[in-house]
Amino acid sequence: AKAEGRGTFRLFEPKMDEVARERLALERELREALQGDRFELHYQPLVDLSDNRIKGMEALVRWRHPERGLISPALFIPLAEETGLIVPLGDWVLRQACRDAVGWPGDISVAVNVSPLQLRHRGFAQTVVAALAASGLDATRLELEITESVLLDDTETNLETLHTLRKLGIRISMDDFGTGYSSISYLRRFPFDKIKIDRSFVRDCAGNPDAGAIIRAIVSLGTSLGITTLVEGVETEPQLAAIRAEGAREVQGFLFSPPRPAGEIAALLIAQDDT
Ligand code: C2E
Ligand code: CA
Ligand code: CA
Ligand code: CA
Repeated sequence: AKAEGRGTFRLFEPKMDEVARERLALERELREALQGDRFELHYQPLVDLSDNRIKGMEALVRWRHPERGLISPALFIPLAEETGLIVPLGDWVLRQACRDAVGWPGDISVAVNVSPLQLRHRGFAQTVVAALAASGLDATRLELEITESVLLDDTETNLETLHTLRKLGIRISMDDFGTGYSSISYLRRFPFDKIKIDRSFVRDCAGNPDAGAIIRAIVSLGTSLGITTLVEGVETEPQLAAIRAEGAREVQGFLFSPPRPAGEIAALLIAQDDT
């Protein structure tokens, strides 16, 4: 509607201008939000299928915007990555997640998403160590989730950082497995502790034997490499039944719980401990 009244032949230019302006405004707001402590973490349970108990929580960041409400990470993480703001934001996420997790029962771990840029940033391992030390969280309760794009570039440095972290007892998961071009070859390059099978494989696994066969093959690959497999995005009982039949070890999805604010999570875990 803002473009109305402009000459059609000029439509393209002003629009580009507008996009650039909006981007700049958003970047400034993102910077201010970081300074103003306007981010919050929600947590989604990772459920062990052997006993149906919560074994961990994935931290998922949200932006509490004064006018726009709660903003999804899908809308601001890409901009945070482009502008480099993901480094301080990721640091905040890591520290907050460790602080929250230290109040949970001792067998519950916390999984934190790590952007490629964050991992590549010098001193990332020290940042993680500092977050653990500041919170008092044991390294064995922290999982870092990375996507395969992390291993695409600057491989040697990234591998070294990952090895350093793993030696400290931190576990490393490959996120969104199966969505890239060479997921399988990366399993050879780095000893991952967990594979998170992308939710695109789940959508039709209940009715479609091929989708189920792919999950089964990944699970079996994981088993032979000593890697735990988790299936993401489980929404229905039939999907869960199919995933169980394929032998996956853990699941995560709306069927169990959507991501919830930290306050609700503590109560959920205490309730589980009482049963
Ligand atoms: P992800 O790491 O793959 O996280 C899982 C996403 O799937 C979450 O979206 C979660 O809400 C959603 N999800 C979980 N269960 C279901 C389900 O049953 N059905 C469907 N349709 N979706 C489900 P969310 O919270 O919007 O996060 C989106 C992405 O943003 C994440 O994808 C992750 O890549 C990124 N992200 C979130 N928090 C952080 C962070 O702290 N740091 C970085 N670098 N990235 C983050
Ligand atoms: Ca993730
Ligand atoms: Ca994922
Ligand atoms: Ca994803």
